[in-house]
Amino acid sequence: MLERSKQQVIPHQWAFAGDKKRYCKESVKGFLPEEIRHLMWSLDWPVDPNTQNMHLNCFYDMPNCGLPSSGKHWGVDIQVAVGTHVLTPETGKIVELSINERQAMLDIIMIGNSGIYYIFGHLDWKVISDKFAEIRGLVVGEEVRVKKEVDQREMIGEVGYFGRMSGKFLETVQEDVKNVYGDTNSHLHIECWYRWKTPINPLLLFKRLS
Ligand SMILES: [Zn+2]
Repeated sequence: MLERSKQQVIPHQWAFAGDKKRYCKESVKGFLPEEIRHLMWSLDWPVDPNTQNMHLNCFYDMPNCGLPSSGKHWGVDIQVAVGTHVLTPETGKIVELSINERQAMLDIIMIGNSGIYYIFGHLDWKVISDKFAEIRGLVVGEEVRVKKEVDQREMIGEVGYFGRMSGKFLETVQEDVKNVYGDTNSHLHIECWYRWKTPINPLLLFKRLS
């Protein structure tokens, strides 16, 4: 199946040597339902993949790295600097904004024209209040439905300050990653769902990195 699929490879300068191995071996797993198999490795990354020191620090279908007790991680965590722009993988519409109770950060739900539902997690909600007036009155734990058309690669927010890693999680971080990020853990959490029912490995959808 993989051979028949569209394969777009974009060159990426890997800052972290250990990552490429993980990207290939552990992370590109799972399957795409027949109806969306044509989307394989064709959608844009929600963070420019040439962002300096972009690091994939928790993959799909693994225990949640920062909180193993919370079960499986149905997304991918893209560790980048605070303020990194978050981009839409395709044309579609944003349908919900919420301020997550746990970290008081913004989560965005978008439906792509392909039929993929996206959850973008851990954004800075303060910096995008100009773009989404609807969030101005929101308080932590609340959500609001919106209807906003977005283009492909449109900037919809910025990665927020997530806080610090500690304990066992911090022990698992590679030294070269620690040299860049220390114990900070700001990242975009991105999930992709097919028809809201089936979680999809985002790394099967986003353009393949070389
Ligand atoms: Zn995550």
